[in-house]
Amino acid sequence: GRDVKSFLKRNWILIATIASVLLGISLGLLVREYASLSQLEKQYFGFPGEILMRMLKLVILPLIISSMITGVAALDSEVSGRIGLRAVIYYFSTTIIAVILGIVLVTTIKPGVSQTADSIDRAGTTPNVTTVDTLLDLVRNMFPENLVQACFQQYKSQRKEIETPMGNASRNAVTITFPPFTTVMATIAQNLTKDYTLVGTYSDGINVLGLIVFCVAFGLVIGKMGERGRILLEFFDALNEATMRLVQIIMCYMPLGILFLIAAKIIEVEDWDIFRKMGLYMATVLSGLAIHAIVFLPLIYLALVRKNPYTFALGMAQALVTALMISSSSATLPVTFRCAEENNRIDKRITRFVLPVGATINMDGTALYEAVAAIFIAQLNGLDLDVGKIVTISITATVASIGAAGVPNAGLVTMVIVLTAVGLPASDVTLIVAVDWLIDRFRTMINVLGDAYGAGIVQKLSKRELERMDITSDVDVANP
Ligand code: ASP
Repeated sequence: GRDVKSFLKRNWILIATIASVLLGISLGLLVREYASLSQLEKQYFGFPGEILMRMLKLVILPLIISSMITGVAALDSEVSGRIGLRAVIYYFSTTIIAVILGIVLVTTIKPGVSQTADSIDRAGTTPNVTTVDTLLDLVRNMFPENLVQACFQQYKSQRKEIETPMGNASRNAVTITFPPFTTVMATIAQNLTKDYTLVGTYSDGINVLGLIVFCVAFGLVIGKMGERGRILLEFFDALNEATMRLVQIIMCYMPLGILFLIAAKIIEVEDWDIFRKMGLYMATVLSGLAIHAIVFLPLIYLALVRKNPYTFALGMAQALVTALMISSSSATLPVTFRCAEENNRIDKRITRFVLPVGATINMDGTALYEAVAAIFIAQLNGLDLDVGKIVTISITATVASIGAAGVPNAGLVTMVIVLTAVGLPASDVTLIVAVDWLIDRFRTMINVLGDAYGAGIVQKLSKRELERMDITSDVDVANP
């Protein structure tokens, strides 16, 4: 009796969130069936969910800044360098594994072979984007020319063009939220706009990568400043704690927000038939994601950490459900932090470093999806893929996943690089747009899971350095 009670008490938010997912789905289906809401009414219906999204996005900025700066400043530069290197090796190898898994599945299942591209729906023009452009864009983003601007990336001119077709939003079921990216992505966006409704959210986008680079540099400098640096370190540490307390409050609102978020989505979807048409493609992506999450990642964790990987995953449950519901690794970040630190007891010096970076560049789910989708489109076009093309796809899919921001549908936009690299019409992303809102959720969930396992693994590998620091240092940032 007491066990059950304490279990409920500890996990009420998770339980309530899962219940509200189910409730939200049923509510959505009911409303669909028995009420026909006007566009405006649908918007009202989604309002509580909109508020949840806003609150989660709201804390990303203070969270990233405070966690990265303290994360770096608390370690000496040699240790943070080594931790960073381990993290990058982990990100890279798991991403490659995901890509290979995707390629193996899609070439075995061949979801696109029995259909042709024209049997689905094809439209649009081809923007010219190369891998080099994307890489340059990525690096460009690392060095924002204006720190304030990096906090609310805005592209005025593009924004106008993207907003123009918003009037069609009601007619067109497909809505793409934009990654806060630069010129290349904007070109793609503009080209897609001709056929699909794109709702640009440039204004609430944060250039996370740029901020991370700045905060790492800033943290390193603070760490070397001695006594005077300590004031700043303590300031950011307190900022971090305050932000996490806010997160705690937001999480209490989460079940309600999620209920309406998912219900509104279900009411909004217009084309269910597309799921039948694209069934095999979706099954390929989803099974790949499942295998990566249930077999590969846990195996790696088990091999390196020697603890039960599923217990670990269970500890992340709240973050995983959140990612599934909001399709954004960045907006899930606050929850990921809480789960990793509170439930899985990962050292703050690790999470503060590994999680924000992971949410931005480590996207196993996205990488797998990019590879599968590109080959699926090749199959639809009747294109034969030789080894060279497959290798090209693996490389560009990896780049595309790193380049994708942690916001909804980012992977769909960076998909264009993969397509252009193997000579497919970039506009063919329109073939898979209609089902992306669903696939996006699942790949985001795997992205977040990958980041979490990464934090666990890096902590284990860095155990000795951390312990040594505990003995020598007198500031205990990890447990203030
Ligand atoms: N939505 C994904 C994420 O935030 C990115 C993607 O579109 O694949 O992790």
